[in-house]
Amino acid sequence: MKIPFLNFQYMHEPIKEEIVSKFTEVYNKSWFILGEEVKNFEKEFSSFCSADNCIGCGNGLDALYIILKSFQIGNGDEVIIPSNTYIATALAVSYTGATPIFVEPDINTYNINPELIESAITNKTKAIIAVHLYGQPADMDLINKIAKKYNLKVIEDAAQAHGAVYKDKRVGNLSDAAGFSFYPGKNLGALGDGGAVVTKDSELALKIRQFGNYGSDKKYSHIFKGNNSRLDEIQAAFLSIKLKYLELWNDERKRVAKRYLEEIKNEHIILPYVPENVNPVWHIFAIRSTKRNELQNYLKEKGIETLIHYPIAIHLQPAYKELGFKRGSFPISEKLSDEVLSIPMWPGMKDEEIQYIIDVLNLWGK
Ligand SMILES: *Cc1c(COP(=O)(O)O)cnc(C)c1O
Repeated sequence: MKIPFLNFQYMHEPIKEEIVSKFTEVYNKSWFILGEEVKNFEKEFSSFCSADNCIGCGNGLDALYIILKSFQIGNGDEVIIPSNTYIATALAVSYTGATPIFVEPDINTYNINPELIESAITNKTKAIIAVHLYGQPADMDLINKIAKKYNLKVIEDAAQAHGAVYKDKRVGNLSDAAGFSFYPGKNLGALGDGGAVVTKDSELALKIRQFGNYGSDKKYSHIFKGNNSRLDEIQAAFLSIKLKYLELWNDERKRVAKRYLEEIKNEHIILPYVPENVNPVWHIFAIRSTKRNELQNYLKEKGIETLIHYPIAIHLQPAYKELGFKRGSFPISEKLSDEVLSIPMWPGMKDEEIQYIIDVLNLWGK
């Protein structure tokens, strides 16, 4: 059997007519930037996250960058981020002129280890970015507690976690502000790039809105040097349609994850660990093995496509060589980048596809 890593068909086929008719509607209106579609989507998505404000922007990286800028974070400042995340988390910090300070993850949850945060705080620290990696919420109570003690801002990188729940609250509502990505492959994806900031703080929301629109308070009045990062009307319109199905799609991912967790049984494979009090949305289902490359080749031979999130830790990327880290600097992140393997996961996976993957994994090394 041939199984791709991701298949959009289950999500996209049933909504095709809705999408096409919405396209025609927006096309005929000829209003493409900052209009009713964006306004509506922002309202829907903030209510989905139970936060008061949502501001659309160009992509997930911009969402994080704009939040940091709106907190006046820049040159000489430090921002704590997990050492194993997608590089966008670090780049958002670097673009402001601040330095990302890496903190190792917990080896079980793969999310930032709150116990290690305090020793990374200096008098330059301004904020902590918590990433809900693979769709599983980080330990926000502990993170918020430390932040409060040191008067730091807390930002969620929720790019992989639309709809994930931490102690009965949806992500996006667990910090000062959260950045979301609507990259097509995310749990809620546009048909192109897109992103949003979600925040309870209405004053901050206004600043963020102005920042992404040239620092403008009204047309042709610019009160600070902003940039241009806006969610397109057409993408907002598509996202409003897809948002109606997000819970159903997340439930589908949970159904697949449940089978994987219950039925993959192989002593050479470590399955994801889900702490109590969180309800992850399984953006990625990452298994682990000390013979990861061997396992990836084996699965490829069996027709199963896999990916690695992420094969090179950020501190070892050429882009961050100026920080002077080497192999051994963040051993847990390095171990994870050597051992993790993401197996196929999408809403609507067929039972025989799930069964085939489970069978093939269970036979490995036997
Ligand atoms: C995808 C992603 C981003 C960036 O989002 P883009 O829309 O691609 O800019 C940021 N952080 C994490 C953890 C992501 O997975």
